[in-house]
Amino acid sequence: MSKVGKVIDYSENMKGIVQLDGKSYELDGVVKEETVELEINNNLKKVIAIKRIIEKSPDRIKPLCPISNSCGGCNFDFINYQKELEIKKEWLNKLFKNKLKYNNPIEVIGMEDPFHYRNKGQIALKQSKKGIIAGFYEEGTHKIISTDNCLIQDEVISDIQNKIIKILIKNNYQAYDEDKKRGIFRHILVKRSKVTKEVLVVLVTAVDNFPGKNNLAKLLVKEIKEITTIVQNYNPRTTSAVLGEKEYVLYGPGFIFDIMHDNKFKITSKSFYQVNSLQTNKLYETSIKLANLKKTDTLLDAYSGVGTIGIFASKMVKQVISVELNKDAVKNAILNAKYNNIQNIHFYQDDATKFILKATSDKTNIDVVIMDPPRSGSTKEFINSLIMLKPRKIVYISCNPLTQVEDLKGLLKTYQITNIKAVDMFPRTANVECVVCLERQ
Ligand code: SAH
Repeated sequence: MSKVGKVIDYSENMKGIVQLDGKSYELDGVVKEETVELEINNNLKKVIAIKRIIEKSPDRIKPLCPISNSCGGCNFDFINYQKELEIKKEWLNKLFKNKLKYNNPIEVIGMEDPFHYRNKGQIALKQSKKGIIAGFYEEGTHKIISTDNCLIQDEVISDIQNKIIKILIKNNYQAYDEDKKRGIFRHILVKRSKVTKEVLVVLVTAVDNFPGKNNLAKLLVKEIKEITTIVQNYNPRTTSAVLGEKEYVLYGPGFIFDIMHDNKFKITSKSFYQVNSLQTNKLYETSIKLANLKKTDTLLDAYSGVGTIGIFASKMVKQVISVELNKDAVKNAILNAKYNNIQNIHFYQDDATKFILKATSDKTNIDVVIMDPPRSGSTKEFINSLIMLKPRKIVYISCNPLTQVEDLKGLLKTYQITNIKAVDMFPRTANVECVVCLERQ
């Protein structure tokens, strides 16, 4: 049945909320104050479709991307960027007010140009009767939606991916066909630094060996001048993971470097690296400024990835202790410290909670903590250990403010929030990175 309602607020997932006959519906693609006509199923449980936007927001625009509807990556491409930032700001302010009674205004640091920021591009390949199809998986399915230009991805990366596909087709290579278990290529992953201009191409294959692989690498390098290194990643699995374990370097060193704030960072096919380098600079600058570090400080960089934050901060403190669970990330972090001639940083490969529990029982002196856990947040034990470690300041960076506020609740007896800043790391998508600074009372 058809019903008309007004979008009254945003949900925890940044979706628009419409209330009808005492029931609440969460919708993508609408903003507050808009009036919409909805097709609702007969038992009123589900919205089947948004039939019409009756009263439109003045900030509504026509999405620039032709696959906007099916891709599901850019939830906010139907409004202008200014409005997107306003929504993120409103959402964050409401969250911190409701959950933590924090009433000071929270600003969101946006981008000047919110497009083509991703330094990593990944497309899936599929063999069809007509040849190779390349694109993104449709939201929630395994169907590939063909695209040759993702608007939030570095344009050079898209250009390289398109050229690679053309070369594969021209040389009669086939994409992997999951049903027939035939063919070679599953994905093409490209990473590029806008600073060093180095480009890593990863050809993900379903077979370990394929004919002419060294010649193919030579051809790619000859035809596509931007490529500085090529890796073949062998992924025999049937899961949705893009990369497999085994790799062969087909050309160049097998990795690239990016530079942030004069620091050099190694990027490999598998290593975690923030996808928006420009905003990462702002995120780290903001976090380190809030930490107000002193030359005599010992800083704990928890959930440290490839060591980036600790390396940024190392010149401002006596020493940095970094803890990270992922073995590859820690290996790269050690190398990154070496490349940047940094000696006052110590890396530990461990679960952050286990590590901090031990640091607490050893009465390790920690003056400041910067923590940046994954989306699921930290743990109760980690938070309780922080209270016992008594750092002067805690800077909690999170890509999921919903788990962040739950973790913070445990700290507010002994710590006070002195500042919150947000950085828009993923423009056009419903994600925002939030940095909370706490001081001991
Ligand atoms: N600070 C880094 C990484 C942040 S992403 C940066 O800015 O790039 C979160 C990191 O937490 C990932 O590297 C992930 O491997 C790590 N991680 C996840 N669970 C962990 C745990 N239990 N203990 C320590 N590190 C963990």
